[in-house]
Amino acid sequence: MRFDILTIFPGLFAGVFEHGVVKRAVASGIVDIRAHDLREFTHDRHRTVDDRPFGGGEGMVLKPEPLAEALESIGMADKAARDRNRESVVLLSAQGKRFTQATARELAKLERVALICGRYEGVDERVNELFVDRELSIGDYVLSGGELGAAVIVDATMRLLPGVLGNEASSQFESFGRSEAEMAAARGNSSGEDGTPPRSTHGAGGLLDYPHYTRPAEFRGLAVPEILSGGDHLKISRWRRERALEKTFRNRPDLLETAELSDRDRAFLRSLQRGDE
Ligand code: SAM
Repeated sequence: MRFDILTIFPGLFAGVFEHGVVKRAVASGIVDIRAHDLREFTHDRHRTVDDRPFGGGEGMVLKPEPLAEALESIGMADKAARDRNRESVVLLSAQGKRFTQATARELAKLERVALICGRYEGVDERVNELFVDRELSIGDYVLSGGELGAAVIVDATMRLLPGVLGNEASSQFESFGRSEAEMAAARGNSSGEDGTPPRSTHGAGGLLDYPHYTRPAEFRGLAVPEILSGGDHLKISRWRRERALEKTFRNRPDLLETAELSDRDRAFLRSLQRGDE
Protein backbone atom coordinates (compact mmCIF):
# COMPACT_ATOMS: atom_id res chain seq x y z
CA MET A 1 0.00 0.00 0.00
CA ARG A 2 1.30 3.44 -0.88
CA PHE A 3 0.84 6.61 1.18
CA ASP A 4 1.69 10.05 -0.29
CA ILE A 5 1.81 12.85 2.25
CA LEU A 6 1.53 16.43 0.96
CA THR A 7 3.05 18.86 3.44
CA ILE A 8 5.14 21.97 3.88
CA PHE A 9 7.19 20.07 6.53
CA PRO A 10 8.26 16.72 4.99
CA GLY A 11 11.14 16.55 7.49
CA LEU A 12 8.62 16.04 10.31
CA PHE A 13 8.08 12.45 9.17
CA ALA A 14 11.71 11.37 9.19
CA GLY A 15 11.71 10.06 12.75
CA VAL A 16 8.08 8.99 12.97
CA PHE A 17 8.28 6.21 10.39
CA GLU A 18 11.77 4.97 11.25
CA HIS A 19 10.91 2.81 14.23
CA GLY A 20 9.12 -0.38 15.15
CA VAL A 21 6.23 -1.81 13.15
CA VAL A 22 6.15 0.96 10.50
CA LYS A 23 9.87 0.68 9.84
CA ARG A 24 9.57 -3.10 9.40
CA ALA A 25 6.53 -2.73 7.11
CA VAL A 26 8.45 -0.27 4.92
CA ALA A 27 11.60 -2.43 4.92
CA SER A 28 9.62 -5.51 3.87
CA GLY A 29 7.96 -3.60 1.02
CA ILE A 30 4.38 -3.94 2.33
CA VAL A 31 4.11 -0.17 2.75
CA ASP A 32 5.60 2.67 0.74
CA ILE A 33 5.42 6.08 2.44
CA ARG A 34 6.44 9.24 0.57
CA ALA A 35 6.37 12.78 1.94
CA HIS A 36 6.19 15.52 -0.71
CA ASP A 37 7.29 19.10 -0.06
CA LEU A 38 4.58 21.51 -1.27
CA ARG A 39 7.20 24.19 -1.84
CA GLU A 40 8.57 22.06 -4.69
CA PHE A 41 5.34 22.89 -6.51
CA THR A 42 5.62 26.69 -6.28
CA HIS A 43 6.99 28.91 -9.04
CA ASP A 44 7.94 32.18 -7.32
CA ARG A 45 11.23 33.23 -5.77
CA HIS A 46 9.89 32.95 -2.22
CA ARG A 47 8.30 29.51 -2.81
CA THR A 48 5.01 30.85 -1.48
CA VAL A 49 2.44 28.29 -0.31
CA ASP A 50 0.04 30.58 1.58
CA ASP A 51 -1.90 33.78 1.11
CA ARG A 52 -4.34 36.05 2.97
CA PRO A 53 -7.97 34.95 3.32
CA PHE A 54 -10.65 36.47 1.10
CA GLY A 55 -13.15 38.29 3.29
CA GLY A 56 -10.49 39.21 5.86
CA GLY A 57 -9.90 37.64 9.22
CA GLU A 58 -7.10 35.89 11.05
CA GLY A 59 -4.05 34.17 9.62
CA MET A 60 -3.15 32.72 6.27
CA VAL A 61 -4.59 29.99 4.04
CA LEU A 62 -2.76 27.29 2.04
CA LYS A 63 -3.02 28.19 -1.66
CA PRO A 64 -4.68 25.69 -3.99
CA GLU A 65 -2.15 25.71 -6.88
CA PRO A 66 0.80 23.91 -5.16
CA LEU A 67 -1.58 21.27 -3.79
CA ALA A 68 -3.16 20.72 -7.21
CA GLU A 69 0.24 20.37 -8.84
CA ALA A 70 1.48 18.03 -6.12
CA LEU A 71 -1.58 15.79 -6.62
CA GLU A 72 -1.05 15.89 -10.39
CA SER A 73 2.59 14.87 -9.95
CA ILE A 74 1.56 11.71 -8.10
CA GLY A 75 -1.30 10.94 -10.49
CA MET A 76 -4.09 11.56 -7.97
CA ALA A 77 -5.66 14.80 -9.16
CA ASP A 78 -8.45 13.36 -11.32
CA LYS A 79 -11.32 12.85 -8.87
CA ALA A 80 -13.84 11.84 -11.55
CA ALA A 81 -11.60 9.10 -12.94
CA ARG A 82 -10.53 7.82 -9.53
CA ASP A 83 -11.32 4.21 -8.66
CA ARG A 84 -12.49 4.67 -5.06
CA ASN A 85 -12.02 0.98 -4.35
CA ARG A 86 -8.30 1.42 -4.92
CA GLU A 87 -7.43 5.05 -4.13
CA SER A 88 -8.47 7.88 -1.87
CA VAL A 89 -7.43 11.47 -1.29
CA VAL A 90 -7.76 12.49 2.35
CA LEU A 91 -7.77 16.04 3.71
CA LEU A 92 -6.71 16.36 7.34
CA SER A 93 -9.12 18.84 8.92
CA ALA A 94 -10.54 19.66 12.33
CA GLN A 95 -13.87 19.98 10.49
CA GLY A 96 -13.67 16.47 9.09
CA LYS A 97 -15.50 13.26 9.98
CA ARG A 98 -13.93 11.54 12.96
CA PHE A 99 -11.17 9.04 12.04
CA THR A 100 -11.90 5.75 13.84
CA GLN A 101 -10.73 2.13 13.74
CA ALA A 102 -13.55 1.51 11.23
CA THR A 103 -12.10 4.23 8.95
CA ALA A 104 -8.66 2.61 9.29
CA ARG A 105 -10.18 -0.71 8.20
CA GLU A 106 -11.79 0.99 5.17
CA LEU A 107 -8.52 2.65 4.16
CA ALA A 108 -6.55 -0.58 4.62
CA LYS A 109 -8.55 -2.10 1.75
CA LEU A 110 -7.13 0.50 -0.68
CA GLU A 111 -3.89 0.47 -2.67
CA ARG A 112 -3.11 4.18 -2.43
CA VAL A 113 -3.97 7.00 -0.05
CA ALA A 114 -2.84 10.61 -0.44
CA LEU A 115 -2.96 12.75 2.71
CA ILE A 116 -3.15 16.54 2.49
CA CYS A 117 -1.77 18.29 5.57
CA GLY A 118 -3.20 21.73 6.24
CA ARG A 119 -1.37 24.53 8.08
CA TYR A 120 -2.23 28.05 9.20
CA GLU A 121 -6.02 28.60 9.07
CA GLY A 122 -6.41 25.62 6.76
CA VAL A 123 -6.57 24.81 3.05
CA ASP A 124 -8.42 26.73 0.30
CA GLU A 125 -11.84 25.01 0.26
CA ARG A 126 -11.71 24.45 -3.51
CA VAL A 127 -9.02 21.82 -2.90
CA ASN A 128 -11.59 19.94 -0.84
CA GLU A 129 -14.24 20.26 -3.54
CA LEU A 130 -12.01 19.40 -6.50
CA PHE A 131 -9.74 16.66 -5.22
CA VAL A 132 -10.74 15.25 -1.83
CA ASP A 133 -12.71 12.04 -1.15
CA ARG A 134 -12.55 12.05 2.65
CA GLU A 135 -12.18 15.01 5.02
CA LEU A 136 -10.94 13.46 8.27
CA SER A 137 -10.34 14.73 11.80
CA ILE A 138 -8.33 12.70 14.31
CA GLY A 139 -10.23 14.15 17.28
CA ASP A 140 -12.07 17.10 18.74
CA TYR A 141 -9.14 19.44 19.21
CA VAL A 142 -7.17 21.76 16.95
CA LEU A 143 -3.62 20.87 15.92
CA SER A 144 -1.23 23.36 14.37
CA GLY A 145 -0.95 21.21 11.25
CA GLY A 146 -2.20 18.03 9.61
CA GLU A 147 1.16 16.20 9.82
CA LEU A 148 0.58 14.50 13.17
CA GLY A 149 -2.88 13.49 11.98
CA ALA A 150 -1.42 12.03 8.78
CA ALA A 151 1.10 10.04 10.85
CA VAL A 152 -1.74 8.72 13.03
CA ILE A 153 -3.75 7.63 9.98
CA VAL A 154 -0.76 5.96 8.29
CA ASP A 155 0.16 4.11 11.50
CA ALA A 156 -3.36 2.91 12.37
CA THR A 157 -4.05 1.86 8.76
CA MET A 158 -0.82 0.12 7.82
CA ARG A 159 -0.82 -2.12 10.92
CA LEU A 160 -4.05 -3.70 9.62
CA LEU A 161 -2.40 -4.82 6.36
CA PRO A 162 -1.72 -8.54 6.04
CA GLY A 163 1.84 -9.40 7.08
CA VAL A 164 2.55 -6.21 9.05
CA LEU A 165 1.88 -7.56 12.54
CA GLY A 166 3.53 -10.87 13.42
CA ASN A 167 0.21 -12.22 14.63
CA GLU A 168 -2.82 -11.37 12.47
CA ALA A 169 -5.17 -11.86 15.41
CA SER A 170 -3.51 -9.00 17.33
CA SER A 171 -5.32 -6.38 15.30
CA GLN A 172 -8.70 -8.10 15.70
CA PHE A 173 -8.68 -8.86 19.41
CA GLU A 174 -7.77 -5.43 20.70
CA SER A 175 -9.63 -2.26 21.58
CA PHE A 176 -12.32 -1.41 19.00
CA GLY A 177 -11.81 -4.85 17.41
CA ARG A 178 -14.48 -6.01 15.01
CA SER A 179 -17.58 -7.80 16.19
CA GLU A 180 -18.09 -11.51 15.56
CA ALA A 181 -20.70 -10.63 12.92
CA GLU A 182 -18.35 -8.26 11.08
CA MET A 183 -15.56 -10.83 11.11
CA ALA A 184 -17.91 -13.51 9.81
CA ALA A 185 -19.04 -11.15 7.02
CA ALA A 186 -15.40 -10.40 6.14
CA ARG A 187 -14.80 -14.17 5.89
CA GLY A 188 -17.81 -14.37 3.56
CA ASN A 189 -19.85 -16.26 6.13
CA SER A 190 -22.73 -14.21 7.42
CA SER A 191 -23.73 -16.66 10.13
CA GLY A 192 -20.25 -16.95 11.63
CA GLU A 193 -20.88 -20.68 12.02
CA ASP A 194 -17.95 -21.93 10.02
CA GLY A 195 -16.27 -24.01 12.69
CA THR A 196 -13.96 -21.24 13.93
CA PRO A 197 -13.83 -21.08 17.72
CA PRO A 198 -15.99 -18.48 19.45
CA ARG A 199 -14.01 -15.42 20.47
CA SER A 200 -16.59 -13.60 22.52
CA THR A 201 -14.41 -13.98 25.58
CA HIS A 202 -11.78 -11.63 24.16
CA GLY A 203 -11.75 -7.85 23.99
CA ALA A 204 -13.15 -7.78 20.44
CA GLY A 205 -16.64 -6.80 19.36
CA GLY A 206 -16.33 -3.09 19.96
CA LEU A 207 -15.12 -3.16 23.58
CA LEU A 208 -11.89 -1.73 24.94
CA ASP A 209 -9.08 -4.20 25.52
CA TYR A 210 -8.64 -6.00 28.87
CA PRO A 211 -5.59 -5.14 31.08
CA HIS A 212 -2.29 -6.93 30.40
CA TYR A 213 0.41 -8.07 32.85
CA THR A 214 3.93 -9.46 32.51
CA ARG A 215 6.73 -10.41 34.94
CA PRO A 216 7.56 -9.74 37.74
CA ALA A 217 4.59 -11.44 39.42
CA GLU A 218 4.76 -8.81 42.16
CA PHE A 219 5.70 -5.18 41.53
CA ARG A 220 5.91 -2.54 44.28
CA GLY A 221 3.45 -4.42 46.42
CA LEU A 222 0.97 -5.18 43.63
CA ALA A 223 0.54 -8.82 42.63
CA VAL A 224 -0.64 -9.97 39.20
CA PRO A 225 -4.27 -11.19 39.49
CA GLU A 226 -4.04 -14.80 40.67
CA ILE A 227 -6.39 -16.16 38.03
CA LEU A 228 -3.86 -15.35 35.26
CA SER A 229 -1.27 -17.76 36.67
CA GLY A 230 -3.77 -20.54 37.40
CA GLY A 231 -3.74 -22.09 33.91
CA ASP A 232 -7.54 -22.41 33.70
CA HIS A 233 -8.18 -20.97 30.22
CA LEU A 234 -11.93 -20.71 30.57
CA LYS A 235 -11.60 -18.76 33.82
CA ILE A 236 -8.90 -16.53 32.26
CA SER A 237 -11.15 -15.84 29.25
CA ARG A 238 -14.08 -14.93 31.47
CA TRP A 239 -11.93 -12.74 33.69
CA ARG A 240 -10.55 -10.90 30.65
CA ARG A 241 -14.02 -10.42 29.20
CA GLU A 242 -15.26 -8.95 32.49
CA ARG A 243 -12.26 -6.61 32.77
CA ALA A 244 -12.86 -5.45 29.16
CA LEU A 245 -16.52 -4.80 30.00
CA GLU A 246 -15.54 -3.00 33.20
CA LYS A 247 -12.96 -0.77 31.47
CA THR A 248 -15.43 0.09 28.71
CA PHE A 249 -18.18 0.77 31.29
CA ARG A 250 -15.91 3.15 33.24
CA ASN A 251 -13.99 4.89 30.45
CA ARG A 252 -16.14 4.68 27.30
CA PRO A 253 -19.76 3.79 28.17
CA ASP A 254 -20.82 5.07 24.72
CA LEU A 255 -19.15 2.02 23.14
CA LEU A 256 -21.49 -0.33 25.01
CA GLU A 257 -24.41 0.90 22.89
CA THR A 258 -22.99 -0.78 19.77
CA ALA A 259 -20.85 -3.55 21.31
CA GLU A 260 -21.73 -7.19 20.73
CA LEU A 261 -22.91 -8.41 24.14
CA SER A 262 -24.00 -11.81 25.42
CA ASP A 263 -26.61 -12.36 28.16
CA ARG A 264 -23.75 -13.05 30.56
CA ASP A 265 -22.14 -9.70 29.57
CA ARG A 266 -25.40 -7.84 30.17
CA ALA A 267 -25.84 -9.44 33.59
CA PHE A 268 -22.27 -8.44 34.48
CA LEU A 269 -22.88 -4.86 33.33
CA ARG A 270 -26.04 -4.69 35.44
CA SER A 271 -23.97 -5.77 38.46
CA LEU A 272 -21.51 -2.94 37.71
CA GLN A 273 -24.37 -0.45 37.49
CA ARG A 274 -25.64 -1.62 40.86
CA GLY A 275 -22.12 -1.22 42.22
CA ASP A 276 -21.80 -4.93 43.18
CA GLU A 277 -18.27 -5.33 41.79
N1 SAM B 1 -9.08 27.04 11.24
C1 SAM B 1 -9.18 25.62 11.43
C2 SAM B 1 -10.42 25.31 12.26
O1 SAM B 1 -10.78 26.10 13.12
O2 SAM B 1 -11.01 24.23 12.05
C3 SAM B 1 -7.96 25.05 12.13
C4 SAM B 1 -6.75 25.03 11.27
S1 SAM B 1 -5.41 24.16 12.02
C5 SAM B 1 -4.61 25.43 12.95
C6 SAM B 1 -4.29 23.85 10.72
C7 SAM B 1 -4.39 22.47 10.09
O3 SAM B 1 -4.14 21.48 11.07
C8 SAM B 1 -5.71 22.10 9.48
O4 SAM B 1 -5.87 22.61 8.18
C9 SAM B 1 -5.65 20.59 9.49
O5 SAM B 1 -4.95 20.10 8.35
C10 SAM B 1 -4.83 20.30 10.73
N2 SAM B 1 -5.66 19.90 11.86
C11 SAM B 1 -5.98 20.63 12.95
N3 SAM B 1 -6.74 19.96 13.80
C12 SAM B 1 -6.93 18.74 13.26
C13 SAM B 1 -7.64 17.58 13.66
N4 SAM B 1 -8.31 17.55 14.79
N5 SAM B 1 -7.60 16.50 12.84
C14 SAM B 1 -6.92 16.53 11.68
N6 SAM B 1 -6.23 17.60 11.24
C15 SAM B 1 -6.23 18.70 12.02
